[in-house]
Amino acid sequence: MLFESKLTPPEIEGRLERVLLTVQKPGRYVGGELNITIKEWDSVKTHVALVFPDIYDLGISNMGIKILYDQVNQRTDSLAERGYSPWLDMEAVMREKDIPLYSLESKHALANFEILGITLPYETLYTNALNILDLAGIPLRTKDRGRDHPLVIAGGHACFNPEPMHAFIDAFVIGEGEEIIHEIIDLYQSWKDKTTPRNVLLESLSQIPGLYVPSLFEHSYHEDGTIAKFTSLAKTTQTPILKRIVGKLPPPPTNFIVPNIEVVHDRFTVEIMRGCTRGCRFCHAGMISRPIRERSVEEIVNAAEEAIRATGYQQFSLMSLSSSDYTHILELVTALNSRFGDDHVTISLPSLRIDTVSVDLMDRLGSRKGTGFTLAPEAATERMRRIINKFIPDEQIIETAKAAFEHGWTTIKLYFMIGHPSENLEDVKAIAKLCNRILTEGRQIAGGRAKLNVSIGTFVPKPMTPFQWVACDTPEMIESKQDILRHKLRDRNIKLTWTAIEDTLLEAWLTRGDRRLSEVIHTAWKNGAKFDAWQEQHRYSIWMDAFSSHGLDPDFYTHREREVDEIFPWDNLSAGVRKTYLFQEFKNSIEGVIRIDCREQCFACGILPTFADLRRDNPGDVWGCPEVKSPRRNKEKLP
Ligand code: SF4
Repeated sequence: MLFESKLTPPEIEGRLERVLLTVQKPGRYVGGELNITIKEWDSVKTHVALVFPDIYDLGISNMGIKILYDQVNQRTDSLAERGYSPWLDMEAVMREKDIPLYSLESKHALANFEILGITLPYETLYTNALNILDLAGIPLRTKDRGRDHPLVIAGGHACFNPEPMHAFIDAFVIGEGEEIIHEIIDLYQSWKDKTTPRNVLLESLSQIPGLYVPSLFEHSYHEDGTIAKFTSLAKTTQTPILKRIVGKLPPPPTNFIVPNIEVVHDRFTVEIMRGCTRGCRFCHAGMISRPIRERSVEEIVNAAEEAIRATGYQQFSLMSLSSSDYTHILELVTALNSRFGDDHVTISLPSLRIDTVSVDLMDRLGSRKGTGFTLAPEAATERMRRIINKFIPDEQIIETAKAAFEHGWTTIKLYFMIGHPSENLEDVKAIAKLCNRILTEGRQIAGGRAKLNVSIGTFVPKPMTPFQWVACDTPEMIESKQDILRHKLRDRNIKLTWTAIEDTLLEAWLTRGDRRLSEVIHTAWKNGAKFDAWQEQHRYSIWMDAFSSHGLDPDFYTHREREVDEIFPWDNLSAGVRKTYLFQEFKNSIEGVIRIDCREQCFACGILPTFADLRRDNPGDVWGCPEVKSPRRNKEKLP
């Protein structure tokens, strides 16, 4: 074993036995679930801990961890185990009794693993990630780690702007992890067999396509605080670092771990496709996860069958960013229906388009009417829908809602966002008007049982999207818009929820933050910030103090409109979509120009030339992009 840990697994288990009954939900901390993989520790060369930096109840459903757990455990020379953030009560006990953070499978301290993979799907997990490192006894900063410390890597959607976490993470995976995880393990193993120092490992890792090693770059700034340039400290590192994708989605994991306690999403999930071509301009996932790649109907049905056999679940969900756009959606629903229709299996199909076909699809799947029918118009005026490129006329929304009521749903869940670029108060009032109209229509069909759950998010401009140049609403603007909705949506059958302003601001600071925010995050964490994704835990004043102690103005990151030619902290990376394309889309939004689904007409976003070889290797309608007819070249130009 490479690392010496203070406590052995039996010692950790011994201490746990004495404390577990003193904390809430001890089942979060014991492991032993159905379908976990436990390998003999000494039988493998490389031990990988996969960590979700929030509580078990949420992290157990994370798809990224399921995929990597499956991939690593397929190797005979490696093992993967899991770790999650302990809730506050457990953390206090662990610190008091000196119990290091450990893996659920074998109870090894996380510091004993050679590789620690942290998933960062959203920014509000950053302080929890620091807390994980601290509880594991691993130096927080990459510069303080030596040969005997785990290699700390991170992946997930938030890593498309990794800079705010650059000081703490040795390497970021940009993009999809199925292939790159094996390259990281192979390289780690060959480094471990030698005696070279850790910086040699980091430099070698930077040669793996899709892996960003932040310590190999320096950022310098203009006097106004914007970035002047990036300097590569390693001669061989090429920029921009292009995201990794798989040309064909590998077989989906089916051997899902079944928790022993009640968790938030207690079902298994089959990913039916990756990517989205709708082109909603606010949508980070839609821009960074292109191109569309689909699984076949047969593969999905077989995977569902296998997972039901392996887990005993009677509920599963089909995952994608836009299920209606799955090419064979009707065929899939028919196949699932005929296979599971008589078996009392509940199938949910989230992210459906707003049209009556979606109601039919949900109905055919026997979707539970009690859970509500979900519609996400995001905006309520034609002007605003043109700006965000999600053009769904009011009548289509009303007809869909009516169809849902007629098919027996009594609750409609509606998702809107306030704070879109150039939104005015009339656009906000229109949200209330549309909701009230839907409720009136619902009452005519379902009487007093008709209900609406209206969720109002606040738009946060995201990196690598057409809105990366725009300012976020100020707290005063957000408050006045929320007040309008609170005032106008008072019917007792309307349940209104909204995002707290402090949560929006935190996300907005971090998502377009630069590397100077590492110190802000560190100070905020030291002063007690954690579980920032939990509204009741988020403490605004700690963050404001952290900004001020480092002489940084939070408004610089949120309420500032960016110049056209500003260098962004994430410009060192590429999701394959050209910045010029994003800017054209930004201009289109100002002019109200709509772009249709790019599967109907390719708008040359940059994905196809960037990944032309992968497209050539995967012909047919597996991809949403047009086929590449030109002959293969030795080297494709980066965008
Ligand atoms: S290359 Fe064309 S079809 Fe493919 S994602 Fe970009 S715009 Fe859409």
